[in-house]
Amino acid sequence: MQYDHILIRFGEISTKGRNRKRFIDKLKRNIQNKLTDYPQIKIETTRDRIFIVLNGENHEEISARLTKVFGIHSFSLAVKTESDIDAIKAAALFAFTELDYEGKTFKVSARRSDKLFPFDTNQINYQVGSHILTNVDELVVDVHNPMINVRVEVRKEASYITCKDIIGAGGLPVGTSGKSMLMLSGGLDSPVAGYLAMKRGVELEAVHFYSPPYTNERSKQKVVDLSEVLTQFGPDINLHIVPFTEIQEVIQKQVPENYSLISTRRMMLRITDEIRNRRTGLAITTGESLGQVASQTMESMYAINDVTSTPMLRPCISMDKTEIIDIARKIDTYDISIRPYEDCCTIFSPAAPKTRPKREKVEYYESFIDFNELINRAVENTEVVKIGKSTSKSELEELF
Ligand code: ATP
Ligand code: MG
Repeated sequence: MQYDHILIRFGEISTKGRNRKRFIDKLKRNIQNKLTDYPQIKIETTRDRIFIVLNGENHEEISARLTKVFGIHSFSLAVKTESDIDAIKAAALFAFTELDYEGKTFKVSARRSDKLFPFDTNQINYQVGSHILTNVDELVVDVHNPMINVRVEVRKEASYITCKDIIGAGGLPVGTSGKSMLMLSGGLDSPVAGYLAMKRGVELEAVHFYSPPYTNERSKQKVVDLSEVLTQFGPDINLHIVPFTEIQEVIQKQVPENYSLISTRRMMLRITDEIRNRRTGLAITTGESLGQVASQTMESMYAINDVTSTPMLRPCISMDKTEIIDIARKIDTYDISIRPYEDCCTIFSPAAPKTRPKREKVEYYESFIDFNELINRAVENTEVVKIGKSTSKSELEELF
């Protein structure tokens, strides 16, 4: 007997009614994609669970990967046995005694999807609990707040015993909510926004604006590294790197200084929207947080957002910087984001940007410039790199 399975529980997927199968299939594929380097494993799905048959592969490494797969509520290492009360008792005793159980309280919680099984859940709890108590000395049952919860799942084809739950990443499987373009700067907020969008099932492509020679290769490396961290939570990410120098220089020259920031943001958004259109995305995601800086007042957002009717996802909108930083640390983007390289906006940033810009005014200032042509050129000269496990070194080298 051994712990040879991982039992995966769903969160919100369970509420998806007729769409449930699509969500489960996607979750299965996402798990498969994260575990391609474990050739021995097999993944099986049922209506309410996914099982990974380990076939000797290392469960600790696999568990570490599973904690980053959205759509999983929790998972546990499991012992599989036939659905027979004596076999279940023996398997539960084995599963329990494999743990560091000394001095710990326990209870048994049975769940039965096989309604023809001759014992109900109370009877299973009692029988399995007594069996463990008889065979292990000095154990105490605590039905309200046990340190170890021996869970027994009786299904028609087999039963599974688990003793420890690992909390999953929650959310919805990436790819079940459509595709959004993530405007990814090198700062703290946008990677966190990307992570939170992915948590709700969004597949991302990233768009980064860079302005050589004002920004250098290291700032590009930052967004490559940030995108790579994000791919740990989902599939490979196409990173679009947009040359933005020309547009920034034109704005600098022709738009009054206190409106240059708003105009810059509007152009970024127009370009992102054009890339989105070509890539058939349905939304744009940013790291904006209300009131954080001049470009993120409600008046600024109103003037910036006017260039598109595409839905905007702003997962950080109501978060304080400290809350954003907590997530950045948790997902390991913090250390990359705080590397001290200039971003294209920092360099051109005016001393006193308008915090209450007027849409009509920015439109008027922009009306003297043929931005369509500039935008087309920027989009045409955009480089695309695939970031993730299938990225070859030479592809990345070509970037720099
Ligand atoms: P971040 O920490 O994400 O850079 P921020 O607090 O610095 O955010 P801003 O610089 O005002 O805020 O940027 C607001 C949002 O605009 C960013 O969260 C990001 O989504 C987008 N953005 C800003 N600069 C760039 C850039 N160079 N390339 C792509 N997107 C950008
Ligand atoms: Mg920034």
